[in-house]
Amino acid sequence: MKFCAVHHPDVALHHPETFFKRGQLVPIPEVPARAEAVVSLLRQRGVPLDVAPDYGPAPRGAVHTPELLRYLETAHARWIANPGFSDIIIPNVFQGPGMSGYPTHILGQAGFHASDLSAPIVAGTWAAIAAAANTAVHGAHLLVDGAADAVYAACRPPGHHASRDRIGGFCFLNNAAIAAQEALTLLGAEGRRQRVAILDIDAHHGNGTQEIFWERDDVYFVSLHADPAEFYPYLAGYRGEVGEGRGRGYTLNLPLPIGASEPTFLGALADAFEAIVHYGPEILVVSLGFDAYEGDPYQGLKVTTPGFGRIGGLIAALGLPTLLVQEGGYAVGDLQANLASFLDGFGAAALSPTPANG
Ligand SMILES: [Zn+2]
Repeated sequence: MKFCAVHHPDVALHHPETFFKRGQLVPIPEVPARAEAVVSLLRQRGVPLDVAPDYGPAPRGAVHTPELLRYLETAHARWIANPGFSDIIIPNVFQGPGMSGYPTHILGQAGFHASDLSAPIVAGTWAAIAAAANTAVHGAHLLVDGAADAVYAACRPPGHHASRDRIGGFCFLNNAAIAAQEALTLLGAEGRRQRVAILDIDAHHGNGTQEIFWERDDVYFVSLHADPAEFYPYLAGYRGEVGEGRGRGYTLNLPLPIGASEPTFLGALADAFEAIVHYGPEILVVSLGFDAYEGDPYQGLKVTTPGFGRIGGLIAALGLPTLLVQEGGYAVGDLQANLASFLDGFGAAALSPTPANG
């Protein structure tokens, strides 16, 4: 197996300090140190590491609306130009039924493009999210070009809660969806079958990814996550959500009880694999969150550090060209151990070049 990784230093430029949770401003756990930890681990292991080139606006424009992209690129400068506005964008108006048209005021746009108050925008946000999207896109190119059999994309901030036109849950651009869409385009250009599966094993439901491909049959979306009846995002991720139109039957949600054990998680993973094999994708994109970890501050599921190795091994056994896109995982001190375990299980560590003394 040819394995490599992609990163970009600009992902560190997004560093808001707080977000709204349970009615109060609290420290945000989605911090630049998350990316520093995973990249440092990859370097320690001698994994070949590309810096993502700039693929321009086309890949993100193939997934997100022009309004959202224009907003994200310009919002912070327009926001701070208003006297008395803070240095961080958190909306305070929201759209309801019967309201129509696209707002022109920055406050209206901030609400229009938000699904919650958990995606604060600061001065470096655009540079960071564009870099994260390019990181995932580069991974898709390496896979479809055959330069690698599996790629790890060190994306941050995460992306799977971002929909076509709304941000939320620490997510702005949907890195996994952008990579999947880019892969479809590249596969089509090579005359290959345009079929991509996205397996989302983050502890939270990938509501943004689900919404983006809701009416599509060229992307099969399957998500394992803590039961949304009691866990973020609350409004999506239920078993009855299966897609619509052409996409009916191409979304599979496998919610697990809060605090579900590792064997329960692995059992659901087997169901996900059965569905993916039946679909027969050319490429697998994994929304790889480590917040299903038993030590994660969100406490949704109980996967152990060795358990991530078993999950990695099972994913590798599918034998598909695989793009691993980093999503959540907020026990920052254990992030390296969890990724190391996953990569060992996946077979990546043994098959990539190691340092001379390693
Ligand atoms: Zn998550």
